[in-house]
Amino acid sequence: MYYCAYCQDKFCYAGELEKVTENCPCKEKALIEEVKTLYSDCENHLLAHNSALVESEGYCQKTRLEEIILFANKCQYKKLGVAFCVGLSKEAKIFCQILKNHGFDVVSVICKNAAIPKEFIGISENEKVRPNTKEAICNPIMQAKLLNKAQTDLNILLGLCVGHDSLFIKYSEAPITVFAVKDRVLAHNPLGAIYLSDSYYRKKLAK
Ligand code: SF4
Repeated sequence: MYYCAYCQDKFCYAGELEKVTENCPCKEKALIEEVKTLYSDCENHLLAHNSALVESEGYCQKTRLEEIILFANKCQYKKLGVAFCVGLSKEAKIFCQILKNHGFDVVSVICKNAAIPKEFIGISENEKVRPNTKEAICNPIMQAKLLNKAQTDLNILLGLCVGHDSLFIKYSEAPITVFAVKDRVLAHNPLGAIYLSDSYYRKKLAK
């Protein structure tokens, strides 16, 4: 098995392949060759090449928003799909307008589209966020299907919940990038929990 997260040396990063240990992915010679051939696939090459260029051009200078615009332009994507959460409607409106101002054709779909009641997926009254009210499911499969229908070149996730994003990713035909992820407690900055894991959040996260 692989445990890169616990590796102190990061020989891969330095390109010192002669020093790597037995469990290192760098030892997987056959798989490495197989994966390298995948980068010659036209779309994979486009994504890999342009994301590397965005990384170097934007390094510590461009925000993620600017990097998304740069990446989409480099890939010559014209039609962008935005799958957003109802809780981030204001942000979605501004985000879509900025993309439009940069010349993109923008299609946006909210999570609550189709208004399918939560009962449909077996959620009981006491399992709702607000029991005894009408609650629609988040509908990421439909978000993906609608963006597929619109034939978007790139889909961008804005604040989808944990798991809803998994379903969107499962059904999207276009490549996906993420502008922001949902974290209702930490102002959509989930890494806050990691940065505080040895201080304020230690007790909360202890196993
Ligand atoms: S790929 Fe190898 S050297 Fe790199 S972090 Fe993983 S175990 Fe360490």
